Amino acid sequence: MNNEIKNEKVPLTGMTQSELTHLCKEYGEPDFRGNQLFNWIYSQKERNIMKMENLPKILRDSLDENYKVSSLQLSKVNASSTGQTSKYLFSIPSGEKIESVLIEEKKRITVCLSTQVGCALGCTFCATAKMGFMKNLSVGEIVDQFLFLQNASERRITNVVFMGMGEPFLNYGRVISAAQLLNDPDGIKLGAGKITISTAGIVPKIIRYADEGWKFKLAVSLNGTVDKERSKIMPINKKYSINDILSSAQYFYEKTGSIITFEYVLIENKTDSIGDALKLKYLLKGLPCKVNVIPYNSFDDSFQRPDTKRIEQFLNELKSGSFIVTVRWSHGTEISAGCGQLAVMNGDNIEN
Ligand code: SF4
Repeated sequence: MNNEIKNEKVPLTGMTQSELTHLCKEYGEPDFRGNQLFNWIYSQKERNIMKMENLPKILRDSLDENYKVSSLQLSKVNASSTGQTSKYLFSIPSGEKIESVLIEEKKRITVCLSTQVGCALGCTFCATAKMGFMKNLSVGEIVDQFLFLQNASERRITNVVFMGMGEPFLNYGRVISAAQLLNDPDGIKLGAGKITISTAGIVPKIIRYADEGWKFKLAVSLNGTVDKERSKIMPINKKYSINDILSSAQYFYEKTGSIITFEYVLIENKTDSIGDALKLKYLLKGLPCKVNVIPYNSFDDSFQRPDTKRIEQFLNELKSGSFIVTVRWSHGTEISAGCGQLAVMNGDNIEN
């Protein structure tokens, strides 16, 4: 493994156990050194090669000359007034910035990870869309967000959601590899059922995901019940309609036995009418699924969250449907860390 850029150390995070074993072999070391290195990076979460004490000094020196553990540089941390939610701004080696969120509740410690810099899908209610698409993150850049946030939290992270910047299914291979590393029983050891991949509805990838039989949870951002209206706020709907998504969700259930969670953002006068709730019940009738309702988090004046009474009316109507309904009141909205609020413009956060 040679450094592609002179003087630029290659990050180790993102490499699998067999890649690390292969690397150690290149330095004349036996196979078990790769396991030790894997353990230091993902289980011990050590960020300094020289502190990996059970590796021979000569190996540490050689690795340290050409490699580094982390690919991210922490630029800024913003914590909400309650301290429950913190937003982390990182620089990646190519200079762009990304954000991740740590949410510490009583029993759940959740991290929301980014998978791309910006996003190409242009959902009109989402701050990330304003950045446009810049690039896909590497496996290491995705997993490293987790390792940073785990080191920052005094408690063990219990859940990971791929719902930060970007459309995970447009960086499919790397997102799956990152989820596998999070799930690896010799490393981070996070259960597959504690990892959720969220898509805006890239139907061919939902089919592929079902065919490949992954055990990570799947969420689809629905946010609409009529194609014409959904296309206005989620342009990807012109390519993959609501019907296409529902068919793929049915296929996913039949293939894997797992249910999809539909995320439904409640936006005032766009998605929040009783008629929308009725249509949603009708569309999802007979499809084993869960609906997670997310009252909208504003980032500018374009869209608003409905008032509490309207939210309750919508929920009351929906709860008589044939599926489980949950509500997610996003945490950290005052630091723009809520759902749909992540964005980095001109090297810094839009609002902070
Ligand atoms: S909501 Fe998700 S898919 Fe849509 S623009 Fe934002 S990041 Fe992209």
